[in-house]
Amino acid sequence: MGTYAITGSASGMGLHTARRLRADGHRVIGVDLRDADVIADLSEPHGRRAAADAVLASAGGVLDGAVLAAGLGPGSGGDRSRLIAQVNFLGVVEPLTAWRPALAAADRAKVVVIASNSASTVPLVPRRTINALLAHDPDKAVRSLRLLGERGSALMYAASKIAVSRWVRRHSVTRDWAGAGIRLNALAPGAVMTPLLEAQLAEPLEGKAVRRFPIPVGGFGAADQLAEWITFMLSDAADFLCGSVIFVDGGTDAFFRPADWPDSVPLRALPRYLWRFARGTETG
Ligand code: NAD
Repeated sequence: MGTYAITGSASGMGLHTARRLRADGHRVIGVDLRDADVIADLSEPHGRRAAADAVLASAGGVLDGAVLAAGLGPGSGGDRSRLIAQVNFLGVVEPLTAWRPALAAADRAKVVVIASNSASTVPLVPRRTINALLAHDPDKAVRSLRLLGERGSALMYAASKIAVSRWVRRHSVTRDWAGAGIRLNALAPGAVMTPLLEAQLAEPLEGKAVRRFPIPVGGFGAADQLAEWITFMLSDAADFLCGSVIFVDGGTDAFFRPADWPDSVPLRALPRYLWRFARGTETG
């Protein structure tokens, strides 16, 4: 039986995943603002550090897996964009970076980062917002959207999910992750009925947009079903899964972007492709 860290373990997909793992006999160290083994605020640098340290101490320096599910959806409220940048991006990559040695110390550890299909279905997310997040500069990310006021939070949400997906894809294939036996992947859900979605549906404008958003299979996803996908991605079945972003979204991404990916390597990407081909992977 393994030891797993789960952020956002008090609600929604994190809670359902924690229940499922515990029911299977695993040990779960939950991190959340409340109702968790480790109470920490991932929007603050010291909260992220304290959460990372407390999990490492509790796990005895060996983690069989981690699920990064803490997150905030778009919405109103003064500092919403800043909170999204801090929790949805820094609250994922900082604890994960701190846990990497403990994951490497386990046998074939698995990590699932909860991204979103907002990463591929929200139009016109500014590149500078994504780049500022990837540079760990939430102030710059917030400044890049300041002219949009509260409406900027939807773009910040999508930017945070693009940034974590990109972080996963970049790091997953390196010596430190794949080479250390860790399988790092992302899950991109569509609209799933959780308190996060309920809060979005309760906002007049946001709720209208969510209800109108096309979902080819109809309805919303269920948190316990998504938890099954997450536990599958934590299992031995995921030994050959690396750097993937798995869309479980009722078809919305396929509906909007049927031909955008997979696609042939374009001419502008060929030099980097050939360079990588010649160099080979870092992992041998
Ligand atoms: P949820 O609101 O049910 O759970 C999120 C959890 O994160 C909560 O327990 C909350 O307390 C915790 N959290 C928020 N801010 C925190 C902070 N500062 N410090 C520590 N914990 C904090 O939401 P959910 O729908 O289960 O969301 C899980 C993940 O899935 C999120 O990353 C979300 O962006 C993503 N997601 C959700 C949907 C959806 O429709 N529900 C769709 C795509 C992606």
